[in-house]
Amino acid sequence: MATFKVELPNLPYEHNALEPVISSETLQVHHGKHHQTYVDKFNAALEAEGIETEDVLNLFEIVSKLSPAIRNHGGGYWNHKFYWESLRSPNEDNKPTGKIAELINESFGSYENFVEKFSASGAALFGSGWTWLGQKEDGSLIIHNTPNQDNTYMDIVEEKYNPLLTMDVWEHAYYIDYQNKRPVHIQEFFKIINWDKVNDRLN
Ligand code: MN
Repeated sequence: MATFKVELPNLPYEHNALEPVISSETLQVHHGKHHQTYVDKFNAALEAEGIETEDVLNLFEIVSKLSPAIRNHGGGYWNHKFYWESLRSPNEDNKPTGKIAELINESFGSYENFVEKFSASGAALFGSGWTWLGQKEDGSLIIHNTPNQDNTYMDIVEEKYNPLLTMDVWEHAYYIDYQNKRPVHIQEFFKIINWDKVNDRLN
């Protein structure tokens, strides 16, 4: 009988805080239904398989040896928590500041180039998944896609980096507000990136 369980984290803001980029309705369904379901199914899998751990990340490191339920629902639990914490209320002139602004210039040449590359990566992801900005061991930044609910901490994912920011490109993240227009959602997404949080996540 596993005793390790996770809980649905509270959103770090009100449901309407990201409007008009992401509607209150989307957040209610995305957090209250989708994220809750990942939490419930992850807990059910931990229980059924008698898995104990002190940290979800420890499970990701051996995820290839665990069931698809742990990989998919554990990833869904963790990735969404990280996603909510990556966002804040929209600002038309939302730009990176401090150290992350310097690193973006060093790695991508300019903020505009970063926006272009991150957008193209999100638009090119076939099906469902996540677009990440991460910091590699040598300090440089990387833009990387993972399918489904995978993330860099999982042993099945080759690319390794410290995740700084993530964008959910599953249809459920934007369909109510943008229907099939993922590129329009991505364009708006830059207004709600919490660059202070991204700076806090740097090594
Ligand atoms: Mn999602």
